[in-house]
Amino acid sequence: MSNSINRRKFIKSISVLAVIPVLAPALAQAAQLDPGNAQAKAFKYTHKSEVAGKTCSNCQLFTGGAGAEWGPCNIFPGQEVAGAGWCSAWIAKA
Ligand code: SF4
Repeated sequence: MSNSINRRKFIKSISVLAVIPVLAPALAQAAQLDPGNAQAKAFKYTHKSEVAGKTCSNCQLFTGGAGAEWGPCNIFPGQEVAGAGWCSAWIAKA
């Protein structure tokens, strides 16, 4: 009887632990860059580029995946920029 309860508790514990690696990346996702913050303003960052042919997604400093809506940028560590965004540090992707 007690072995059966202990086994059930053990299996429940394992189930919870198995979910953590699945949820952890989603929880660890970086915040979206606020265009109003001082550094973003200094670089004239915007979520929607108004410069023809220049967006974060085709910038060398964008490290998000191809076609990603949001992704990391080397200029703004720990935050994500919009793939459709732009800032004055834009450099053509090599
Ligand atoms: S440097 Fe500027 S244009 Fe390039 S990805 Fe970062 S925010 Fe976008």
